[in-house]
Amino acid sequence: MKKIALIGSTGSIGVNTLKVIESHPDKFRVVSLAAGKNADLLLEQARKFKPALICIRDREQAALLKSKLARTGIRVVWGEEGLIEASSCANADTAVFSVVGAQGLRPLIAAIKSGKNICFANKEPFVIAGELINRLAAKHGVKILPIDSEHSAVFQCLEGKKKDEIRRIILTSSGGPFRAVTSRELRKVTVRDALNHPRWKMGKKITIDSATLMNKGLEVIEAANLFNMPVDKIEVLIHPEAIIHSLVEFIDGSHMAQLAIPDMRIPIQYAIGYPERLDSNGLPRLDLTHVRRFHFEKPDMEKFPCLGLGYEAKRTGGTMPAVLNAANEMAVGSFLEGKISFVDIPLRIERVMKKHRVVRKPGLEDILESDRWAREVFNAGRSVGCR
Ligand code: MG
Repeated sequence: MKKIALIGSTGSIGVNTLKVIESHPDKFRVVSLAAGKNADLLLEQARKFKPALICIRDREQAALLKSKLARTGIRVVWGEEGLIEASSCANADTAVFSVVGAQGLRPLIAAIKSGKNICFANKEPFVIAGELINRLAAKHGVKILPIDSEHSAVFQCLEGKKKDEIRRIILTSSGGPFRAVTSRELRKVTVRDALNHPRWKMGKKITIDSATLMNKGLEVIEAANLFNMPVDKIEVLIHPEAIIHSLVEFIDGSHMAQLAIPDMRIPIQYAIGYPERLDSNGLPRLDLTHVRRFHFEKPDMEKFPCLGLGYEAKRTGGTMPAVLNAANEMAVGSFLEGKISFVDIPLRIERVMKKHRVVRKPGLEDILESDRWAREVFNAGRSVGCR
């Protein structure tokens, strides 16, 4: 029986994680749940899964939850301190992270230090602090298991393989909703167009990142950090059917790939069940005669400059990935608020990156300081109205 701390329980990954847990009641038990703002859903989840502890961001909401859960024995905590408590909850052995953005970093580090295996869906901590996380995971003897579908695929292909047998890692991408539009049309896309992803149902931030291909840029950095590979051995391949979730080419020219229907419950289940492979309990199965054709193309780096920015940030290294990530979070926020256009997103990120003085071999404080700096510089750029 694995005892799970679920950090980010009301988002799309969190909800799907609970579905996986529910379909294997003999394998998993929830011991803590943490959410941002959705108190109603958190309450419902707490009543159903009966964890020892729940956490919500806001103090008033925590007080309300506390009164509603009186006499259940469920403790209610709040804020960043609460999030750290939920992540390092003493009776959990596995922590699942799916909070948006860089805010998950401190709780993630707390979970590693308390000896939990980490299943992570939110890539940002691994993008901005991959080396630090690897170092800590090795020190505390914990496993780091990816939930991101591409990285789960690569992880599965690499099981039992030696690193010097790898020629390259090929991350697939559906290409997002604007794969077939022209650069000219791209200038006019609206928030609504960008939120309409053709293959995956996800939160807003990651859906916009998928439309700009920044999601793939972040995934390139994530893969380099997770598999300890030079960034130039990681390639991106557009595959609109989203059935092949990624590939590895070995030195003898053999390619291995992982294929499945595009449903996040499959990589979630692989990560939390690891090293066991569990039954998919009634999920639709992949029928290749139904898919019939696979398509592949190279990504258009000119139309989607965010992908190139991802490579550039990792090549530069140090604190630059943290700056890329923070500037991107700000740019996506501004786009969603209607303050900048879709094609402004990469321009605004690049402007912040150009101003950054990189810190080599950064510690946690350097990373958090660069994150803060990038947000401030992004805002300064906005207030003087440069476009
Ligand atoms: Mg992905």
